[in-house]
Amino acid sequence: EQDVTEYRNALKIRVSGFDVPRPVKTFDDCGFPPPLMSAITKQGYEKPTNIQCQALPIVLSGSDIIGIAKTGSGKTAAFVLPMIVHIMDQPELGKGEGPIGVICAPTRELAHQIYLETRKFAKPYGLRVSAVYGGMSKLDQFKELKAGAEIVVTTPGRLIDLLKMKALTLKRATYLVLDEADRMFDLGFEPQIRSIVGQIRPDRQTLLFSATMPRKVEKLAREILSDPVRVSVGEVG
Ligand code: ADP
Ligand code: MG
Repeated sequence: EQDVTEYRNALKIRVSGFDVPRPVKTFDDCGFPPPLMSAITKQGYEKPTNIQCQALPIVLSGSDIIGIAKTGSGKTAAFVLPMIVHIMDQPELGKGEGPIGVICAPTRELAHQIYLETRKFAKPYGLRVSAVYGGMSKLDQFKELKAGAEIVVTTPGRLIDLLKMKALTLKRATYLVLDEADRMFDLGFEPQIRSIVGQIRPDRQTLLFSATMPRKVEKLAREILSDPVRVSVGEVG
């Protein structure tokens, strides 16, 4: 315990919550299956970043998480890698409809970056990733969602539109990521986020990432996460 504390102090990492797993030092420590390890290596990721060292074991343990870290710290892989493991663990993977993993981001550019990274890790498993944000035709997205996808990467407004069109259902979703939550609030997406969360079963795993934690984001986190572990890396938070 003492050396974990010293390690975290040295990296200005603050962690709070119950039964928090020890941070990992390598991707091998995560126990990822070989196809995922190959995809990580292919990406050129040699070792996990600080937020990944802390967040990966927490998320892999099934816990909800609030991750506070600045841009460029590697948050995407911190939620995408455990999502692949989570999806492959689902006994009903071949059955049912609608995505199992839902990732919400504030802008189409950010959603697109996440989509590209997610596809690389989903590919070895043949998992289908749908990009659901502005800039593409709703009809094409409708057809793609109807054909089925295990993972949806989306901006809140566009997902709401497609839910209204009954292009998809969230009844099978069990892994929800809210990325850049503070920016989604700044863009006025709070009602859409609440509507999306309201359509996902309460026993889901929920991950919230944000560069800052203003009071209204904190309030949402308290309402929609259960016993989250809080990890903040660096000076913020
Ligand atoms: P954030 O979401 O925190 O802003 P990203 O997930 O977009 O950060 O990652 C920032 C950059 O770092 C990306 O180019 C990504 O490919 C790269 N990256 C992420 N994890 C690692 C790693 N473990 N090793 C090397 N590069 C990484
Ligand atoms: Mg990011």
